[in-house]
Amino acid sequence: MEKVNYEKLGFKCGIEIHQQIESHKLFCKCPSLVNDPNEEKITIQRYLRAPAGETGHIDIAALHELKKGKYFVYEAKPTSSCQVELDESPPEEINHDALETSLQVALILNCDLVDEVIFMRKTVIDGSNTSGFQRTALIGLNGYVNTSKGKVKVETVCLEEESAKKINEDEKSANYSLDRLGVPLIEIATDASIKDPEHCKEVASYLGMVLRSTGKVKRGLGTIRQDVNLSIKGSSRVELKGFQDLRSIPKVIENEVKRLTRLKDHKPEVRKVEPNFMSIFLRPMPGSSRMYPETDIKEISITKDLLAKISIPELIDEKALKLEKEYNLNSYLARELIKSNVNFDLYKTKFEKLLPSLIASILVEIPKEIKTRFNLDYKFKESDFDFVLSALNHGRIPKDSALEILTEIAKGKRPNLDKYTSVDEKELENYIKELVKKNKELSINALMGMVMKHYKGSVEGSLAMKILKKYHK
Ligand SMILES: [Zn+2]
Repeated sequence: MEKVNYEKLGFKCGIEIHQQIESHKLFCKCPSLVNDPNEEKITIQRYLRAPAGETGHIDIAALHELKKGKYFVYEAKPTSSCQVELDESPPEEINHDALETSLQVALILNCDLVDEVIFMRKTVIDGSNTSGFQRTALIGLNGYVNTSKGKVKVETVCLEEESAKKINEDEKSANYSLDRLGVPLIEIATDASIKDPEHCKEVASYLGMVLRSTGKVKRGLGTIRQDVNLSIKGSSRVELKGFQDLRSIPKVIENEVKRLTRLKDHKPEVRKVEPNFMSIFLRPMPGSSRMYPETDIKEISITKDLLAKISIPELIDEKALKLEKEYNLNSYLARELIKSNVNFDLYKTKFEKLLPSLIASILVEIPKEIKTRFNLDYKFKESDFDFVLSALNHGRIPKDSALEILTEIAKGKRPNLDKYTSVDEKELENYIKELVKKNKELSINALMGMVMKHYKGSVEGSLAMKILKKYHK
């Protein structure tokens, strides 16, 4: 296939990342994303209001929705939603943890911070907010990230409220659950200097790494979202939403660029990414009359005292590189250890006789192997690893048995280590010596098979072979 020259196509691309912060909601004390299926719910129904911006005219995207005469049903549970989510009470004091995390992210991304955090109302047209607007505030601007293809500018870092989660929708109505509404959200937007589809993936994954490095963001499906804005020479701008996985970014962009090159005329639009890496029309691109001031929230000064509280964390990438060098681990193992938040130094001190790579692979690879091989989603505890590592450290079991022992634990069994106990080297040597004497005509491989069968995995293969070679002449 011919390689596409993105520069020649006039490819312009920027990315917007939305990441949920691990904390209570932004303007009330309700917990985030708590939804107890047994708790009784309240439902309220509302019609979309005509949201007029300060300039007076109705946003084109809002008009598109309004024409459908849609109404919205909101489901709220008292544990996770109060009067603020229902838009019956004004916002309470801002969540300071969330504010500090957003400042931290802006600083890591080399942004200039604002002097005052001023919340604005951004018109929301799909009903995903009970008030018809989303609160958003600029935190930092004019930052940048270094990438393999040069600097990419970070135009803005904002702190926002998460929208309500859509449960279902038809032509006339949409249902939303309020447990997600108001969760603090960081929005990072780059300029359009991303050079090609692979580069977009690189920028997205770097920004994700920065966010995770704070240790303050939510993890798991749906807690981070990427929107990609792109255009080519002669085309209007397209916004792609709903990427399920960073790995799909290049393919989806490639397909979108192909689609744009085939179109003659085209209006700016928002499109949804489909699982087959293609996209479908979602709505017209919202106009610029979407923001107006939020008068219920006082501006917050970024004081020296506030800034003094904010420290810049060591990035995950930096930590992994350090681990890699210090313990001579491969980069995959080092990254996975950092990702799973393991205190590796501690393990290395506790089990000093074991090679770092052996400890790392037991902590990282074996759980993954058990998950894929036996389809067991068991969450190993520190004590499970200690049990196996300590036995290895004392030479009680051969290292080949770690997988089997941890599999037993994952299946809910309490493994009996005697079953795996390493055979004493002297005993093994005596056994092999006798075996060779009695079977002089057999090849070394045949003898090896007999040894391994006899000891059923409780000897190290390499040790048995070494002894065999000594006696098999
Ligand atoms: Zn609340």
